[in-house]
Amino acid sequence: MIATKVIAFANQKGGVGKTTTAVNLAACLAESGQRLLLVDLDPQANATSALGVEKQPGRSAYAALLEEGQLADQIVPTPVERLDLIPSELDLAGAEVEIARAEQYLHCFQKALAPIRAAARYDYIFIDCPPALGILTCNALTAAQALIIPVQCEYLALEGLSMITGMIAQLSAGGANRELKLDGIIMTMFDVRTRLAQQVVEEVRKHFGTSVYETLIPRTVRLSEAPSFGQPIILYDPRGTGAEAFRALAEEFFRRQAPPAEEMQNAELRMQKEDNGKQASEGRANRPDKPAAPVEQPQANNGPVPVEVVEKAAAEPSASGPVPAPPTGGQAGS
Ligand code: ATP
Ligand code: MG
Repeated sequence: MIATKVIAFANQKGGVGKTTTAVNLAACLAESGQRLLLVDLDPQANATSALGVEKQPGRSAYAALLEEGQLADQIVPTPVERLDLIPSELDLAGAEVEIARAEQYLHCFQKALAPIRAAARYDYIFIDCPPALGILTCNALTAAQALIIPVQCEYLALEGLSMITGMIAQLSAGGANRELKLDGIIMTMFDVRTRLAQQVVEEVRKHFGTSVYETLIPRTVRLSEAPSFGQPIILYDPRGTGAEAFRALAEEFFRRQAPPAEEMQNAELRMQKEDNGKQASEGRANRPDKPAAPVEQPQANNGPVPVEVVEKAAAEPSASGPVPAPPTGGQAGS
């Protein structure tokens, strides 16, 4: 069974294209057959209106964040097939204050989301964050496995980026989320006519290398109009440059998620071993080629070391090959 991947769209800067990117990338992925849930975790509720869903008191993640209801009960369909939404509304702003009183205040959203993740109903869960590194954004980053940072192609684009990328290290160091990786940076509102936009992209690439998506999202009037019609760009202007760019972005996103062939093989091997292990669990202890006790990880790593690497290291202590990195979604420099 494919596990659900949770991805937060965050940048503490306002108006950089977080919502536009989350909504339209989600719509394009759904169009290509993926099952998605978009969680609007911003009290401004822009993702909710951009998908034509009415804002209603009590219809948000609020109650579930405070363990007063099931998050799954808030799921609504959208005009895009295979794309569901957990809407937002202004009251969600109050959740910041109340969550702050909770004992494990960073984990409220992670706990609320756990049953939906476990049900594996979705391939991806996207979280649209508010423009601040407040409690809601920190909760999203604690629940997520990956972070996408939309960055507007404008002067001083890099300013403050270290704050949001630094959150990954902070959450890991504090033990709140050791899984979180930078999936990538998406450059938005690229204006082909200006030299500045090109310079900004070059500057961001200099710092973040291949973490920056190749696909650039152009500034188009259609993309700015679509939310007021409650439609993602693939419905509002399916043949325009905006829709084209987001379809290209979806393809690139998907390519970056695909695990390398070696990891696929490893995963298959792991499944085979689990099956064999079930059948032969009694006989296993007598086999001379298997360690009887759990083996220590061969080296410090940022994430879980695949089982077969641990076993291989135990069987061949002098093996000098590199330890495969844990799945990272293809980013570099994180
Ligand atoms: P906030 O921080 O307030 O949540 P945001 O980072 O989510 O904002 P958006 O709401 O996606 O940013 O975009 C800000 C504004 O810019 C919106 O009016 C949106 O329609 C417009 N916009 C976003 N991307 C584009 C684009 N590629 N071309 C034209 N307009 C765009
Ligand atoms: Mg937004």
